[in-house]
Parts: sequence; structure tokens; C-alpha cells
Amino acid sequence: MQERDNWTPSLTPGGKYYLTRNASTIVAFAIGQAWKPGNPVAMVGAHTDSPCLRIKPVSKRSGDGFLQVGVEVYGGGMWHTWFDRDLGAAGRVMVKTQGGGMERISRPICRIPNLAVHFGGSVPFEFNKETQLFPILGLVSAELNRTGQTAEELSKEISEAEKEAGFNPLKTPTQRHQPYLIQLIADEAGCKPEEILDFELVLYDTQAACIGGLNNEFVFSARLDNLGMTYCAVEGIIQSLSSPSALKDDSTIRLIACFDHEEIGSESAQGADSNMLPSVIRHLSCLPSSADSSEKSYDKVNGNGDDNATAYEQTLATSLLVSADMAHSINPNYSAKYESNHSPRMNEGTVIRINANVRYATNSPGIVLLQECARRAKAASYQPPGTKTSGGGVPLQLLVVRNDMPCGSTIGPMLSASLGVRTIDVGNPQLAMHSIRETAGCYDVEHGINLFESFFEHYGEMEGKVVVD
Ligand SMILES: [Zn+2]
Repeated sequence: MQERDNWTPSLTPGGKYYLTRNASTIVAFAIGQAWKPGNPVAMVGAHTDSPCLRIKPVSKRSGDGFLQVGVEVYGGGMWHTWFDRDLGAAGRVMVKTQGGGMERISRPICRIPNLAVHFGGSVPFEFNKETQLFPILGLVSAELNRTGQTAEELSKEISEAEKEAGFNPLKTPTQRHQPYLIQLIADEAGCKPEEILDFELVLYDTQAACIGGLNNEFVFSARLDNLGMTYCAVEGIIQSLSSPSALKDDSTIRLIACFDHEEIGSESAQGADSNMLPSVIRHLSCLPSSADSSEKSYDKVNGNGDDNATAYEQTLATSLLVSADMAHSINPNYSAKYESNHSPRMNEGTVIRINANVRYATNSPGIVLLQECARRAKAASYQPPGTKTSGGGVPLQLLVVRNDMPCGSTIGPMLSASLGVRTIDVGNPQLAMHSIRETAGCYDVEHGINLFESFFEHYGEMEGKVVVD
């Protein structure tokens, strides 16, 4: 489905759909066959973005024989972890004949080198984010070798190509970036370099994620915040729909919303603070039931003289949003930084995040409801010895940050403010959030999936049991 089309008439109870915005935010949902206007939507919200370095619009730089690529910081990364890593590039490329597509240069093409310890290193590790967080992309000599030209011949060729290109409001990508970088992007996109009109490419660590630890109890990976919870949301809704009769008696809509731009505050057209989720719910709330949908009586359900005028508000009042964003496990080397009664442990279950000043949206009705979902959930198939789940179900933990520590936030509070929907903030525990390489627990992945599966499966019957007006 596309937002630009009128997709509402094609939705039917029993169907499964998705739509995207900017190709970076995705909403997917399945409509219960017993759906009626004003019924609840069971939602899991997550974010897809992570801190990274983005190639600047004019990135071409060289000095001391090196080719370099100018980058801009995105989000609050732990940038010192980006030094001495093998970096590739990935993102959206606009091509003249084909439109926009996602491309990736998966081999390591650049690196941000540390200063050797013999020069004093950088102690304490401090650096300038403009001049020293600056990847090297290659050597001028190697580039001349590749093209078989002298530096003068190369610059002459480029200036002649510029003349040939005629008038352009902006310099062309080949003029603004290292030409060979554009060539590599073009190779990936299957086009000629001059067909590349623009791109949004970010750098990433090319080292693949892996399972680690003495007993394979960890996941070592980039971007666990928040692909970890995005994965649990996607797998959770899929698992909840695996039986052909899953939607048969379901009176709700099961929905996941995975947003871009959380790391920079969510205020964008595709962020959680946009109209994306409210407008999807507005469409869905007045969707006719199976019995009515044969008539597709939209005038009726849109409230023209009918009792569905309040369907949107009723849906919001009966829905629940589980905001899913990775949480923190206690770090044994810094245990004093954690509140001792509320320090989650790795592989001991999904964490409910609580904050009295509503940096997290969790409140008691949400906790009661989620506990019931966790009780009814499938137990993980892998269980480390001594876990609390021997009787089945998913264990939960509580996270409260110390009063003398800063507290993060996530999409939960802003979505609950804009929708007025009951919301609970959860996430699996991890270490080193916002590092280029993070650590989480293997078992918690399954806990998260099973918890969301249970939420989607049982929310319809549980909804009316926890009512606080
Ligand atoms: Zn996050």
C-alpha cells in the first residue's frame, strides 16, 4: 500500500498489509476477522535508526597524499568506538533512470585512524569531531595508479567533463565526491556514474554480527539499539499470525510501527513525532466490520449521521502501545552507576522501563497488562540454568535509573502524548548502547519475540479487564 493512494477501501478484516514512509519508517498490520469500528489496536512501536556517520553533500577532501571523505555525525554515537574499524557505506541512491533504491558498498572502503601511542596517543581519549573523526578513503597515489594518469591529467579530465556537463544548479556528484567512490556506488546501482543524481549514504562497520561468550550466551553486533527490538516486533507479529486461524475470532488489529529518526528526537515527517501513526489509526479505526465491509459504506463509517463518529477516539481509548526500545543491562565493571534494586541482568527477560518524570511512559495499568501477556507467553526454548521461567512464560525485569544519573527517553512518551493511548516502555537489556559494536543476551531475543506474540494474541480478550478512566 502507498500513502498517496486511497488504500482504506481495499482493507478487509482478515487481511495483512504494510506501508512505508520515506522508505525508512514501516507500519505493518493484520486485521482481526471479528474487527468492528472503534475496536482496539494492539501496537508495538520501535525505531530503526542508530547513531552513525553520514557522508557530507560535498565530501571530497585530500591531504598529505590521502583521499578523505567528509562525514557528519548522526545522533549521539560513542564516536571513539568508530576509530580503527573497517567501514563500508550504505543507504539510498537516486538514479536518473531508475528512481531511488537502497545500495551498499559492503567491502571496507574507509577507516578513522587512531594516533599511535608513540605520539602520545590521545590521553584521555579526546578528539575533534570535525577534524579528527575524519575517515581516510585511500591514497592519491593508488588512485593515480588505478586510472594510469598523472595528477594533472586527472584534474584536466575532470574539468573537461565539467564543461561537457553544461549548466548544473549544483556541482555533480562526481565533482563533489571522490570520483571513484561514485563509480563504486554506480557499480552497485547498476548504472553509469553520471546517472547518479544524489545519495544519502552512511558509514557502517562491515564486521558481521555474531554469537559469542563462553556458552554462546551473547550477541555481538552493531545497531542492537534498536534493531534488536525491531526484530522482536517483526518476529512477534509474524509468530502471532502463523496459524491460519490466528485472526478468526480476533476483534483487534495487530500492528507494528518501526520509525526512523528516534536518535535525533523523532521530529521529522517519518519520525514517531509525525502524523504517521495517528493517521494510520484514524484510517483503521473506522474500517467497517466483515459484515458491513461488503457494502464498503464509508460515508456511514465516517460518521455522516452514524454512531461511528467517535470510532477514532474509541479505538485510542481501548488500544495499547508497547514501545520497544533496547534497555540497559548492569555492567559489572561499573555497577555503582546502576540503581541496585532496578538493575536488569542479561538473559533474564525483557525489561520494563519506568521513570517518575515520564521519560518513559510506563504506568501501573500497563505493567499489570504486560505481566498477564508475559504469563501467557511461550517459554523460551533455550533456558540457561537457574532461570525463573521453568513453569513457562517470559520473565520480566524493572529498570529505574539512579536519581543522580541522566535518564534517556524514547518514542513511548511522545506517542502516548499525541495519541492518548495507554503505553508501556519495554526493551531487552544490552551493554554499551550507542557503541559501534554492542552486546546483548541471546536468550532475551526469544523472550522478546514470545512476549510480543502473546501480546498480539491475547490483547483483545484482556483489554477490557484493566480499565482506568
Ligand atoms: Zn534506542
